Amino acid sequence: MSDGPRSVRSQCPYCGVGCGLELLPPAVKGQAVKRDAEGNPMWTARGDREHPSSLGQVCIKGATVGETLARGRLRQPLFRSKLTDAFAPISWDDALDKITGQIKASLARRGNADGIAMYGSGQFHTEDYYLAQKLLKGALGTNNFDANSRLCMSSAVAGYTRSLGSDGPPCSYEDLDHCTVAFLIGTNTAECHPVLFQRLLKRKRKNPGSVKIVVVDPRRTDTAKAADIHLPIAPGSDLALLHGIAHLVLRDNGQDPAFIDNHTENYDAFFDVAARWTPRRVALFCNIPEKRLRDVAALFHRRQKVLSLWSMGVNQRREGTAVVQGLINLHLLTGQIGNEGAGPFSLTGQPNAMGGREAGGLAHLLPGYRLVANPEHRAEVEQAWKLPAGQIAAKPGLAAWQQVEAMERGDLDLWWVAATNPLVSMPDLDRVKQAMGNCPLVVVSEAYADSETSHYAHLLLPAAQWSEKAGAMTNSERRVTFCPAYRLRFGESRPDWEVFADVGRRLGYTEQFRFDSAAEVYAEFTRLTQGRLCDVSGLSHELLEQAGPQQWPYPMGSIPSTAAKRLYENHLFATPSGRARFSTDQPLGLAEPPCDTYPLVLTVGRYLGQWHTMTRTGKVERLMKQHPEPLLEIHPSDAQELQLRNGELAAISSRRGHLTATVKVTDRIRCGTVFLPMHWGFTQEKACEANTLMHDDACPVSKQPELKACAVIVAPA
Ligand code: SF4
Repeated sequence: MSDGPRSVRSQCPYCGVGCGLELLPPAVKGQAVKRDAEGNPMWTARGDREHPSSLGQVCIKGATVGETLARGRLRQPLFRSKLTDAFAPISWDDALDKITGQIKASLARRGNADGIAMYGSGQFHTEDYYLAQKLLKGALGTNNFDANSRLCMSSAVAGYTRSLGSDGPPCSYEDLDHCTVAFLIGTNTAECHPVLFQRLLKRKRKNPGSVKIVVVDPRRTDTAKAADIHLPIAPGSDLALLHGIAHLVLRDNGQDPAFIDNHTENYDAFFDVAARWTPRRVALFCNIPEKRLRDVAALFHRRQKVLSLWSMGVNQRREGTAVVQGLINLHLLTGQIGNEGAGPFSLTGQPNAMGGREAGGLAHLLPGYRLVANPEHRAEVEQAWKLPAGQIAAKPGLAAWQQVEAMERGDLDLWWVAATNPLVSMPDLDRVKQAMGNCPLVVVSEAYADSETSHYAHLLLPAAQWSEKAGAMTNSERRVTFCPAYRLRFGESRPDWEVFADVGRRLGYTEQFRFDSAAEVYAEFTRLTQGRLCDVSGLSHELLEQAGPQQWPYPMGSIPSTAAKRLYENHLFATPSGRARFSTDQPLGLAEPPCDTYPLVLTVGRYLGQWHTMTRTGKVERLMKQHPEPLLEIHPSDAQELQLRNGELAAISSRRGHLTATVKVTDRIRCGTVFLPMHWGFTQEKACEANTLMHDDACPVSKQPELKACAVIVAPA
């Protein structure tokens, strides 16, 4: 691999929109070599006009990704036996011996591999994800693999599966060009999925009278500012709102009786639930005017084309699965699914969380949207992996937060964190730090030298990252893009899939982990999807390189760019009966509502120019100038009562922690609620670890923690 003169095409490695990027080499004929702030040769990025998902559009994060790739990198494996020691260089051989030695010791002591766990990432390529499953779930026989998707999309996974019979977003981005109503709930699309938001605005500009945007969010975000109707509901009242809309749809005869009769089940039970959520009750519960509720309900109608978009505001709730299903209920009620311009559409956070789900990258999954709890699914995978029957455990493994709890109890001998930074993104961060201190070997595979999580590791493994390794990623509209290796690897860094294969071979699984290239890994993965909803058996690195990005399903023999734009176009769902199922959950509200001691609700979110835990975007001067520090947004009435003024420092405390942040008085946030961004960790100059304050209560179905809200008290610092 060498830096050549051609431009290359790839998928942006930030959010789940998965825009196409065209990367231009550091030196173009006759021009000086472009360099980043450390003097490294730098590729520059611009939108790829040929990418069908983004049509040449790109946001500031994608446009500046070239500045982040070479700075502050981890170059070689480092080890220390105690967290209080300094790191010392170690060879790859010795590093992997330490891992396999610890695995063998744990197996010998416990008689099983449940003392080993891995926490991976939607930053993985599909090949990394796939071999991590094969290593943990196959070779070791423990399902203790989970990923940061658990904090991001697992409620969507569970909601789709319970209501429609399978995971898999039914819609395409093209539906944004055809909808008449865009219902955005729990998503600040303008800042978190900006390219999609611009596409929606374009649709509205071209059809000013006939396209309506509804935004449900306690904050008046940039997304909400563009809405025809903004519903600033009280945090935690979303499910009641959805039931209230259903109530009014039924009262106004907006439902689709033929769709309900022919394609759904459990309708009568749902009808009884919706009947109880009268407009008056919902308006009180959500703290919104009844008229606004009626205005929104009038838009959910069988004659409209309603496209619902959601993200973390729905998923990161202790009743996240129920809220997802409540939203799908509205689409089933009005027949708004599987049709052009309509459907429930989750917007994924990470760039390849979708590929991870396809590869089985959560503790209850196996490749090809299979479940570890299903004996037939286990047998199919064991056969494909040439493992003895019964090797894959029947019990789902430890989900993200359960891995932390296992470390607290002393039940983990090895925690392997790869391509993610949980010491910013997990809830209750002080507890996570203490738990990590209780694990005898914490391994962190990381591209960068100084992530927060690295500070609590014993063994650091330098990872080759996006642009330095080849692989596939799937974006939110089920489109798979080949991401080539177009830059030289840094120092001794290696792709994660290569490292997982190496460990597998060292454990004696020579045949199962004999791969010479990422293309071979991908080929094995695609075979395992044959006949499944997420069938990509017709895809290969070669085809994706030649024919460009493709949507799935893409079975063997498919013709490029002819895949169905949306799932369930025939209204035959993936449930055993073929019918989609109405859910009947009653709203619970927040796990930690405000009280006399902690009278405000803290909600967290993101800034347009920062990505997740800032390991990349924190290195871009332009982005840091745009967002130099995290600001506590507080309503003018609350600020006055608490004697807080713009620019002053405030102290924010919850039952779990305490921090300070600069105050921004603004009516963007509703009275009684305050907002902090989640990006800043303790290595940043303006450290403000918002998730330190968050509790670990999680949705019992999806196991996704309620990272969106906790009770706090705020005072002048
Ligand atoms: Fe990258 Fe998301 Fe921005 Fe597109 S919208 S360029 S995928 S960060």
